[in-house]
Amino acid sequence: MTEARQAIHSRFHPASAQDYLPAPYLRALQLERLQGVVRRAYDRVELFRARMTDRGMQPEDIRSLEDISRLPFTVKTDLRDTYPFGLFASPMHEIVRLHASSGTTGKPIVVAYTKDDVDVWTNAMVRTLASYGVTSGDIVQNAYGYGLFTGGLGFHYGAEGLGATVIPISGGNTDRQIMIMRDFGVTAICSTPSYFVHMIERAGELGVDMNQLPLRVGMFGAEPWSESIRRHIESNTRIKAYDCYGLSEITGPGVGCECFSQKGLHIFEDHFYPEIIDPQTGKTLPEGEEGELVLTTLSKAAMPILRYRTRDITAFMPGECACGRTLRRMRRITRRSDDMFIIRGVNVFPSQVEAALLAVEGTLPHYVIILTRQHGLDDMEVQIEVTPEVFSDKIGALEDLQGRLMHALEHVLGIRAQVRLVEPRSIQRSEGKAKRLIDRRNLAE
Ligand SMILES: [Zn+2]
Repeated sequence: MTEARQAIHSRFHPASAQDYLPAPYLRALQLERLQGVVRRAYDRVELFRARMTDRGMQPEDIRSLEDISRLPFTVKTDLRDTYPFGLFASPMHEIVRLHASSGTTGKPIVVAYTKDDVDVWTNAMVRTLASYGVTSGDIVQNAYGYGLFTGGLGFHYGAEGLGATVIPISGGNTDRQIMIMRDFGVTAICSTPSYFVHMIERAGELGVDMNQLPLRVGMFGAEPWSESIRRHIESNTRIKAYDCYGLSEITGPGVGCECFSQKGLHIFEDHFYPEIIDPQTGKTLPEGEEGELVLTTLSKAAMPILRYRTRDITAFMPGECACGRTLRRMRRITRRSDDMFIIRGVNVFPSQVEAALLAVEGTLPHYVIILTRQHGLDDMEVQIEVTPEVFSDKIGALEDLQGRLMHALEHVLGIRAQVRLVEPRSIQRSEGKAKRLIDRRNLAE
């Protein structure tokens, strides 16, 4: 399908009508919903009432959208501290679904949905899939994990809501994923980008040529990924790879998505109000400046969240999108302020390491950063898998590659890092979110 036809097609999905609301109407709708959600949070949730009272605020003080900046922030620890149900604004008999984060440290985060909340979420996911050009004629393989994680059921409801055929395969068992992809004639796939990169690699080993499959749309999210990964996926398959953004605290996937132009993500602003703030001062930044994304739920009943600090770094994009959507766009998220680590006084993001590695020819996007400390001194080692061809080559080629990689890293990061080239497939693969950083600095020396 040509881009123009794809655009017209997605315009015709009835749920997508909300993507094209005239701006003045959208702003009025946002204000009305913001006033409602602030009232609900204040009346029903102890934490929000106490924080607004501290600031001398009442729900009536929200008279314009700008007034949102007077509200207190909500942070991840607020959700942990009120575990399990402390932020619920609906009685349990009105709640139809609970999800929870995996909780790598301490208590998980629990989120709740009423029937209407599930409908809003499904609506956002239908609009997401429609914006990728997925239709009722598609066969969707959903390789996001089902269960307490929101990715699986979010995409499942969205694809079903759209009328597509869903294969609820969930994550893992890569050989079976590839068999079903081929045998069922799968045309669209959802997974984390790192897992799909692994599937491409495994398909090659199994002798399955992804370019021969009818697979045409990839819906990737749940972890930051770069343009380089997109190019890798799009050049090894016939897929057009789209980004999807969301987080459980706000709803799950479906907060924002790319359209066919792949230039930034439209935010479903009728349900989620976005701000960009300076992560240090908390001040709202002028349009176009890079900072931390803050989101307020405008439609959630069971668990309204005011000004949630996502830790994701992005910026609003100016101008109109070629697709005609009036929803504001944000730049793709390639880094999170949480991911940042400090080594020898220098701030480093894993995405910078990735950019450096991919700039050097001959490396696959499989790497891991290992931080260690010896005698009080921090060390950074990047382990990178090389292709079987390079590895079986004479030692000179490996040394040359290692030198170029170290140079590229030093150039991007401003510090020296050790590079270790490792054998193909020796770095553990993820079937969900990729683990790129192993910090051993706080272990006993
Ligand atoms: Zn667009």
